Amino acid sequence: MKPPPFAYRAPRTLPEALAALAPAAPGTGSDTGGGGVGKVLAGGQSLIPLLNMRLAAPERLVDINRVAELDTLEVTGAGVRVGALARHARVGRSAEAAAVQPLLRRALAHVAHPVVRNRGTVVGSLAHADPSAELPAVLALLDGSVEAASAAGRRTIPAGGFFLGPLEPALLPGELAVSAFFPALPPRTGTAFVEIARRHGDYALVGVAATVTLDAGLRVAAARAGYLSVAGVPLVLDLTAACAGADAVSGGGDWEDAAAYARERVDPESDIHASADYRRHLAGVLTGRALRAATADAIDRAGEGR
Ligand SMILES: Cc1cc2nc3c(=O)[nH]c(=O)nc-3n(C[C@H](O)[C@H](O)[C@H](O)COP(=O)(O)OP(=O)(O)OC[C@H]3O[C@@H](n4cnc5c(N)ncnc54)[C@H](O)[C@@H]3O)c2cc1C
Repeated sequence: MKPPPFAYRAPRTLPEALAALAPAAPGTGSDTGGGGVGKVLAGGQSLIPLLNMRLAAPERLVDINRVAELDTLEVTGAGVRVGALARHARVGRSAEAAAVQPLLRRALAHVAHPVVRNRGTVVGSLAHADPSAELPAVLALLDGSVEAASAAGRRTIPAGGFFLGPLEPALLPGELAVSAFFPALPPRTGTAFVEIARRHGDYALVGVAATVTLDAGLRVAAARAGYLSVAGVPLVLDLTAACAGADAVSGGGDWEDAAAYARERVDPESDIHASADYRRHLAGVLTGRALRAATADAIDRAGEGR
């Protein structure tokens, strides 16, 4: 398969990239970027297959791979900021990022295969907004955000408003996602990421990311989960009421109330890989597994004074 024809731009700076992406000025019939609808090319792991299958036909590709200022990974006590050119592999390998926000590494282990992770970017995965992808669910669960820039300025888009529908991020024409921010965990908080895929590296039939926060007496004070492949956008559920007070040291029970709560709220579709009923069942099973693992992790972290 061959992609439809497109103009190709390879800027070397962010201002050049934003100028190349800028949409046509009203009434001029042309634009600073060279005409038509522009699309960012990052790792190409999702966009190139879409082009080759002719499911996307942008008139202009703006390849950001030479824009060195976007190749950043900043870790502070507040969280992890991932620049638009940071590849999955680099972020997954970073011990500093894993120490501040362990869910990133946990989720990235399930994203595709090493070859794809060497090239694909974290921000590209968010901008692609696939409801079956791991990282959108993680960003949504953590209440992270995406920083978008255009020739007109910058804005921060909270995760809760970033995923509008399948493959539909809240980016406007001419906007480039320059970075994504994954906040650090509160004290005594553990995380887990579990998923079921037909083969390791495939997109998940269902996946669940969870955070569990303990109180000083090691009882569950808060529990949340982010779901992939159960709706058109990542779904976040507050499971606190279904788990609150559970004694973490004894394993917190069977988590059946939380699993039932999740089963009632997910809205999966049937496709060639799994029926909606099976996905709903998996959402319950994986909710229990994720909560159990996140609780064990929270106990470990509390024991280490984190
Ligand atoms: C065999 C295979 C298996 C895979 N399995 C998984 C999986 O299990 N889980 C998973 O999550 N992903 C999976 N992927 C997708 C992979 O993770 C991609 O890398 C990722 O989805 C997109 O990142 P990218 O940098 O390659 O983006 P690209 O393919 O370059 O772009 C994807 C989309 O995002 C837009 N975009 C990219 N960067 C920006 C930006 N900075 N600003 C604005 N728009 C931008 C592009 O215009 C395009 O619309 C798989 C891919 C392959 C080929």
